[in-house]
Formats: sequence, C-alpha cells, structure tokens
Amino acid sequence: MSAHMLKSTTGDVEGQLDRISKQAIHNLSKYSYDNVYVVSNSTKTLRSLIQNGINNLTDDYSKRGILINCTIINIYPADDPFSFDVYYRIYSTFVNDSSKHIQSNNMITVSIVDSSYPVYDVYPLFRSQVRTVNDSYIYNDVDVVYDNAASGLFIRRCPYDDYTSHANSNITFLDCLNNHYYHLSHDGLCIFCRLENRSTCPHNGLETFIIPSLRVNQSTSSIDHVYFNESADGHYNGSLRDFNDSFIYLDDAHGGKYGF
Ligand SMILES: [Zn+2]
Ligand SMILES: [Zn+2]
Repeated sequence: MSAHMLKSTTGDVEGQLDRISKQAIHNLSKYSYDNVYVVSNSTKTLRSLIQNGINNLTDDYSKRGILINCTIINIYPADDPFSFDVYYRIYSTFVNDSSKHIQSNNMITVSIVDSSYPVYDVYPLFRSQVRTVNDSYIYNDVDVVYDNAASGLFIRRCPYDDYTSHANSNITFLDCLNNHYYHLSHDGLCIFCRLENRSTCPHNGLETFIIPSLRVNQSTSSIDHVYFNESADGHYNGSLRDFNDSFIYLDDAHGGKYGF
C-alpha cells in the first residue's frame, strides 16, 4: 500500500465533504420545516449531522485497510450568505502501518443554493400564519394588503447581481418575483438565524420579497425582515412599485437598492 493511495483516498473523502455538507443543511432545514421546529443551536446541530455523514463514509474505508479520522471542527456563516464555511481536520493512515500518514486542517465553503439540495426557508413558519402551496408560502394576515401574500419555500439566489436592474424592465422584476429570489442584505437574516428564529442577525444576511395581494398607494414594505419585524422602528411602510399586474411596496432605502 502506497503513500499515493493514502493521498488519493484522503482526497476522495475531502471531495465528498461538500456533498455531505449540502445534504446536511438540506436535511436540517427539511426537518425544521416538517416539524415546525426551531433549531436552538443550528451551527452545532449542522456540525453533528456533517460529522455523522463523514463517519459513515470513513467507516467504509477502514474495512479496506485505510484509517481516516475526519473531524468537523466548526461551522460558520460565510462572508457570502448563500454559503457557509466548514472547518475540518483530517488524519489518515494505514490500519497496518501508521508510519505513513497525512494530517491537515482545512476549510471548504459550501453553497446553500444548489438545486439538488434545496434549503427550506423556515422563518415564515415561525413568524406568520402560512400554508404551503407548491414552492410558496401563502400568508393569512388580518391586514388585507397581505392576506394571501406569497413568498418562497426555498432559498434561491437572485441572478440579477446588479440589484438596481430590478426596476429596469418588467422582465427582471417579474422573473425575480415569480421565482421568489433572495438577495444579499445587511439587515436581513442569514440561514442560521432563520433556523433559530432570531429577531436580528449579526452575520451577512439575506432578504426576499413578501408579495402582497392588494394594490394600494402605500403599505408595509414588502421586504421579509421588515414585514416580520415587530419593533416600532423595524416595521415601516413603503410606496407602490409596479409593472403591469405585479407590484410590491418598498421604502425609499430598499427602493433605491432595487433601482426604483
Ligand atoms: Zn431579485
Ligand atoms: Zn445570522
């Protein structure tokens, strides 16, 4: 058994960590959704799920004579909130010859917007009266403007990176609304703070539109963290922004962000 074999096997395990991590965040968000379960320490829970997944994999290798010890050290929200960082340590050797071994500490950044492993946004479940229709939440609200409003079930990244282009045409605007895309947001919540039902998030966060059902001149701003915010200064109005039959309400700051 060669050192080369040890290196390639270690590489295989590291290569599968990305898939295992995507599967773990999908499973955690699905569990939270299915059970309307607020996850008390989401990064710690995710770390255990990834550790279990990697252990199942490394158990198979030990039957073939290669001992791989991969420890998931920690999970952190990434700078890009459409992903998270997995820090791990990997040690590998031969069951019968520990003189040859590999040890390293590494980090991978894992996407939460891979459509093969969709991640549920459970925040509306905790914050509002909602039901699920296909890939959307539909809201029950005493405010008629938002009764039967809609937002997305899964976190999806808005492809219009230049956010001001939302106001350029009905094509970009409608495409974003119809797909319930998410955007980078300083005041919005990251995936972990959503799973934990927090009111605020110290990390780089996300925001999406809650699409209202009734057209008026102004109403609560249709940004999810504004709509869900119960504090006096966090819940504010916006004015109508529309193309044909589609419309949302945006305050001046968010209006500017999206090009209106
Ligand atoms: Zn968008
Ligand atoms: Zn957060």
